[in-house]
Amino acid sequence: MTEGMIPLAAPLAQYRAHADAVRAAILRVLESGEYILGGEVAAFERAFAAYCGGGHAVGVGSGTDALVLALKAVGIGPGDEVITVSHTAVATVAAILGAGATPVLVDVDESYMTLDPGAIDAAVTSRTRAVIAVHLYGQAADLDAIMAAARRHGLRVVEDCAQSAGARYHGRRLGGIGDVGCFSFYPTKNLGAIGDGGLVLTSDASLAERVRRLRQYGWNEKRETNEAGLNSRLDSLQAAILQSKLPYLDADNARRAAIARRYDLGLAGLPLTTPKVRAGADHAYHLYVVACAGRDGLIAHLASRKISCGIHYPWPVHRQPGYAERAVMAQNGLPITERLCGRIVSLPMYPELSDTEVDQAIAAVWSYFEATNRATL
Ligand SMILES: *Cc1c(COP(=O)(O)O)cnc(C)c1O
Repeated sequence: MTEGMIPLAAPLAQYRAHADAVRAAILRVLESGEYILGGEVAAFERAFAAYCGGGHAVGVGSGTDALVLALKAVGIGPGDEVITVSHTAVATVAAILGAGATPVLVDVDESYMTLDPGAIDAAVTSRTRAVIAVHLYGQAADLDAIMAAARRHGLRVVEDCAQSAGARYHGRRLGGIGDVGCFSFYPTKNLGAIGDGGLVLTSDASLAERVRRLRQYGWNEKRETNEAGLNSRLDSLQAAILQSKLPYLDADNARRAAIARRYDLGLAGLPLTTPKVRAGADHAYHLYVVACAGRDGLIAHLASRKISCGIHYPWPVHRQPGYAERAVMAQNGLPITERLCGRIVSLPMYPELSDTEVDQAIAAVWSYFEATNRATL
């Protein structure tokens, strides 16, 4: 981060806002002598499951691993196909490959930029086993329609909640609606650790047990193995830190929503689209993403005004050489994904962002469009 810049996200500010709680948690683990799993991880798992409205939580090494382990635990492996979007973090698709399955990438809907449920029917084959609904930018995908399509075809529904911790859909927390929910605690996510972390949530006790075994070599309580697993445990230190920060998640998300409202009002009247909130969803605003023509010029202008922006994501997964060859793309292509990728801009968004800084960002966006209007007159 350049000095004096307003960053896109600010994990250091987040740490400072919770410094006493985080330091106390770290010291507690140091003095406990229990550095892998144990009481801290179990306590955080219970707290996070309760926060989400119930179910069983299993802490794992990262959000990507949460998806890999969830897919494996519902029985997905080589030869199986999993439907998801190309307009997502590559991690979603990396996880499908990590489970040994084939990603099938479909388009998003234009308004909400999440999986178009209408695309599922056409993408299903005899090998399709699951769909990953990505709650992109912090708001629910069209879950009712996705669940209905999944039921029609006998598919499992995995929720990718990496960007949507704490968000609700028709009053229920995301992650507990599909068969299994997967969370990331990457430091800039809505509930961020001081390192990597992830979690699998499910109401199915035997599924949770299978994830528990798979995260630790396949071991059961007697350290016997019936199937091969990996090593992907949530770190005890991270669990303690997350436990200390969980009580602030709702307030942090409310602050994000207040910032979003300020942006919505401040940017009204400009030739750009602001985020549209789905009926029945409350948006956790992991990111505040606008879309407009001339996106690259806007980003350059904002940088000159000391506002850092991002693009989530500049290259859809099917345009990424590392993934494109190993994924199947929907037959009619992904025209909406392609169009959106050239238009989206993520504005600074984190709970510690001040109203003054939001207003600076808004003013900088206005000055860009005023300047370009003058140029074209
Ligand atoms: C961050 C993210 C992940 C991966 O989480 P990690 O903890 O970085 O492995 C997966 N899916 C989405 C949509 C994400 O934003």
